Amino acid sequence: MKLVILLIALVPLVMVAAKSAPGRMAARYDNFAVYKVDVDTDEKMDELKKIHERVTVHILNELMGPGRSYYLIVGPLFRRALDRILNFLEIVYDVVVEDLQKLLDDSSVNNDDQMEWESYHSLETIYDWIDKECAAHDYLECGVIGKSYEGRDIKSIKLSKRTGNKAIFLEGNIHAMEWISSATVTFLLNQLINSEDPEMQRLSEEYDWIVVPMVNPDGFVYTHDVERLWRKNRRPNGYSNSTGDCYGIDMNRNFDYHWGGAGWNIDEPCDHWFGGDQPNTEVEILSLQNFVSSFEDGYIRSYMAFHAYGQYVLLPYGHSNTEFPPNYEQMKRIAAAFSDAAADVYGSSFTYGASGLLNYVVSGAAKDWAYGVKNIPFTCTVELRDKGTYGFFLPSNQITEVGTEVTAGLKALVNQAAAEGIFN
Ligand SMILES: [Zn+2]
Repeated sequence: MKLVILLIALVPLVMVAAKSAPGRMAARYDNFAVYKVDVDTDEKMDELKKIHERVTVHILNELMGPGRSYYLIVGPLFRRALDRILNFLEIVYDVVVEDLQKLLDDSSVNNDDQMEWESYHSLETIYDWIDKECAAHDYLECGVIGKSYEGRDIKSIKLSKRTGNKAIFLEGNIHAMEWISSATVTFLLNQLINSEDPEMQRLSEEYDWIVVPMVNPDGFVYTHDVERLWRKNRRPNGYSNSTGDCYGIDMNRNFDYHWGGAGWNIDEPCDHWFGGDQPNTEVEILSLQNFVSSFEDGYIRSYMAFHAYGQYVLLPYGHSNTEFPPNYEQMKRIAAAFSDAAADVYGSSFTYGASGLLNYVVSGAAKDWAYGVKNIPFTCTVELRDKGTYGFFLPSNQITEVGTEVTAGLKALVNQAAAEGIFN
């Protein structure tokens, strides 16, 4: 959640892009550049927050405070204006990507014939794979927890090889453009089903696994067909601006636990962090909540939501940076086990701690609801790779590495959680 994308004035950019590539459905980013800007004072921070009043840019990470770097996407028509403004404001910057479309091409869908973890896939391919695995293994129970706003299935898989197990819940792709999320969740599921690693087989035997790999199918399809940088779902949210109707709710701001706290632009209906007018408004979220609630209390002992990017294990709470969960120290030890084991594989370091502390105070996330409302004793948001080099455009040749390091982290996490009595 730390490095989430802000698409200010998205529509004008898309129109520019579409003009340069007639006949294409999906927005393109040919010759769009990515700027890294270093902000060192509150005054410059305030100017950066208002920069879209002067020039059309996408700000790639959530704006927090000075002393950090932020990434901006700018189209070819606006580069000179942006240069001028940044120079005028004395904001130090660096052009880190000259042609964003090339980066997108490296993280695009190719070889979509069948499921594997060396490329990203369409919803259809992911769902076909789930159906095939379900048909092949009688310990898998597959279902549809509900329909999205546009009527697509939200599928679930429950893996249970013996009775009496406690369960671990894996949530994927609540944010549409975070493709690595569903890729990683399906990678983990595939390990649990098909891995010959004795440790994975043991985890698959001794725990039940409940997986919803695609919470936001409408948004996901939209990122494939129209706009790669979409975050929310696709329900018209009742607001409009100069570009027309505004769509979508940030579904990881819509859960009803201390809902409606602070957060940058969570109450701007056309922005990408709009959390809704009230909690629990989205059919996808209600389906997910009802599904979680359909299990007996105390059965699900861990809830993990997978996101991109930044390499964090974010723990409750999001709504405060002064109040911490009763078993916060215990959760930190469990997150530390994940972090250490994941880093052992390729050196990727995952920072862990309360999200309100590590990131910024914002409420309505799944992990806080799972912890605070459902009393699940270990919950987290895992922000996957990377730390900003590729960001949301993580190349597909990293999917297997991410899956492998997260598998290692997950094994250690479950074992630490077991040692801590989480599953008792
Ligand atoms: Zn996310």
